[in-house]
Amino acid sequence: MSSRTEEIAANLAAVRDRIARACDAAGRDRGEVTLIVVTKTYPAEDVRVLSGLGVRQVAENRDQEAGPKAAACAELPLSWHFVGQLQTNKVRSVVRYADHVHSVDRPRLVTALSAAALAAGRPLGCLVQVALDAESGDRGERGGVAPDAVGPLADAVAAADGLRLDGLMTVAPLAGPYAGQPRAAFERLAEISSRLRETHPAANMVSAGMSRDLDDAVAAGATHVRVGTAVLGVRPGLR
Ligand SMILES: *Cc1c(COP(=O)(O)O)cnc(C)c1O
Repeated sequence: MSSRTEEIAANLAAVRDRIARACDAAGRDRGEVTLIVVTKTYPAEDVRVLSGLGVRQVAENRDQEAGPKAAACAELPLSWHFVGQLQTNKVRSVVRYADHVHSVDRPRLVTALSAAALAAGRPLGCLVQVALDAESGDRGERGGVAPDAVGPLADAVAAADGLRLDGLMTVAPLAGPYAGQPRAAFERLAEISSRLRETHPAANMVSAGMSRDLDDAVAAGATHVRVGTAVLGVRPGLR
């Protein structure tokens, strides 16, 4: 094994262990939580290493970087998740490699994703991004819709050809009432998710938790955690 492979393997084992311990503490089955490794800023070679170590779900947040990386890894048995703020002019590219978009946060994006998914002939799983720092009618600092806009946007996704409503995503807010309180934020997301599932029972993905707060997310009921730094190392520069 190369030293990079050894490093990633050790980090991955530690993260998997954290998830297992958080599941135990919460009385949840380990199989209820899926690890998505966020590979942004890291090269395709690292994605290849991850695949060799059994990772099947990877995420990216910028199409300019993700498109070529996904193409370079096309033969690997991976599912690609798009988790960044998404411009409508990038949608045609994103639907070619992404199986899930976690950052659906406006009706115009739903329309664009639907048209692109149909044109590409690939069904796309969509998660509505919830901004727990946004007031009614606003979007969040890092994308997402205010909680009271989740229902209508989810209905639009569910009604759109080519799209499947898979669930909800959030990022623990840096501002507002949930700043510094990831556990409370993720519990709020879980409440919004149970309300959503009254009308959309199959929309059961709850995407929450990153390197710093994945334990809180698992405790609050997350089904998918998105972990970058803890597996691949600290990214150069701020993203
Ligand atoms: C970068 C990123 C992550 C992973 O963050 P880490 O702190 O590196 O684990 C998760 N979700 C989104 C939306 C991201 O952009």
